[in-house]
Amino acid sequence: MLNQLILKTMPYVPKSIVYLFAKKYIAGPKLEDAIRVTKTLMELNGASTIDVLGEFVTTKERAIHEKEMCMKVLDAIVDNKLNTYSSIKPTSLGLGIDFNFGYENIKEHISKAKNLGLFVRLDMENSPYTTMTLDLYRKLREDGLDNVGIVLQAYMRRSYDDVKSLLDYKPNIRLCKGIYVEAESIAFKGFEEVRENYRSLLDLMLDNNLYVGIATHDEALIQYGLDAVKKRNLEKNQYEFQMLLGVRENRRNEILNAGHNLRVYVPFGDDWYGYSTRRLKENPQMVGHIVKSVFGIN
Ligand SMILES: Cc1cc2nc3c(=O)[nH]c(=O)nc-3n(C[C@H](O)[C@H](O)[C@H](O)COP(=O)(O)OP(=O)(O)OC[C@H]3O[C@@H](n4cnc5c(N)ncnc54)[C@H](O)[C@@H]3O)c2cc1C
Repeated sequence: MLNQLILKTMPYVPKSIVYLFAKKYIAGPKLEDAIRVTKTLMELNGASTIDVLGEFVTTKERAIHEKEMCMKVLDAIVDNKLNTYSSIKPTSLGLGIDFNFGYENIKEHISKAKNLGLFVRLDMENSPYTTMTLDLYRKLREDGLDNVGIVLQAYMRRSYDDVKSLLDYKPNIRLCKGIYVEAESIAFKGFEEVRENYRSLLDLMLDNNLYVGIATHDEALIQYGLDAVKKRNLEKNQYEFQMLLGVRENRRNEILNAGHNLRVYVPFGDDWYGYSTRRLKENPQMVGHIVKSVFGIN
């Protein structure tokens, strides 16, 4: 109840204050920040995926600008020999403006990545874009681009059928719970229901020999993932764990020290507000700190 109230006040909190709490979730405003954070992760035997912050772009000019930024990330990966790849939000490269426009923009990015020997992950956004994003993926694969992966969300009721419909492509999938607010008619709402679907999806993917990025900070699901890969005797190059920057870093290091591959999602850029407030909303304790600092409560 209190959390709901706090969340409703977020839009009224000055951005400068939100930033104080949000900055742990982002590398910083510049590409150099993402490079620096990735190098630090590499020292821990970890990897990253770099995301240029920005989403739901509504003009073609902006989408082209976003694509150019994403292209710069690819060059930086090669120049700095980084253990990373590019994650992109399809709407930031124009998918929400027009499918064909978005497709061409994204294809250009992924084609360049392919020439450089790099991989690109299509993040999954909210439900108006689910079908479009999966169609985009299919079209990219049919156009010969195999250096691309997708994300499926365990809260979506459709995800199990989506995996089955994609099996012929042997997709590389990041499996997460899902972060957007969706209607109960299309999404599981109960905490345990989402966990249960996550487990079913993970089993379906691993039983079909798909490469899965097990993206969660939920201890119960991390444990399930560890058991699932052990039970199937998977080699460490057949799966990986994934976490967000700034979340459960001690646990992240334990997983790395146990010898598993783990990739951290490293966003950077000026357009940090939407991403960061979603992260803060997952951490109501943090939202409480923000409100206290706004109202001067100790
Ligand atoms: C690498 C990666 C990529 C992702 N990509 C997408 C995507 O493309 N589309 C999409 O919809 N979602 C994406 N997500 C977000 C995801 O869907 C969840 O919203 C988010 O990861 C929280 O779910 P959880 O599995 O960690 O479980 P939760 O139950 O939310 O969290 C488990 C525990 O982790 C800790 N925790 C989680 N988040 C925070 C936080 N922000 N601050 C502090 N502690 C926290 C808390 O201790 C919490 O109890 C991604 C997540 C990861 C890790």
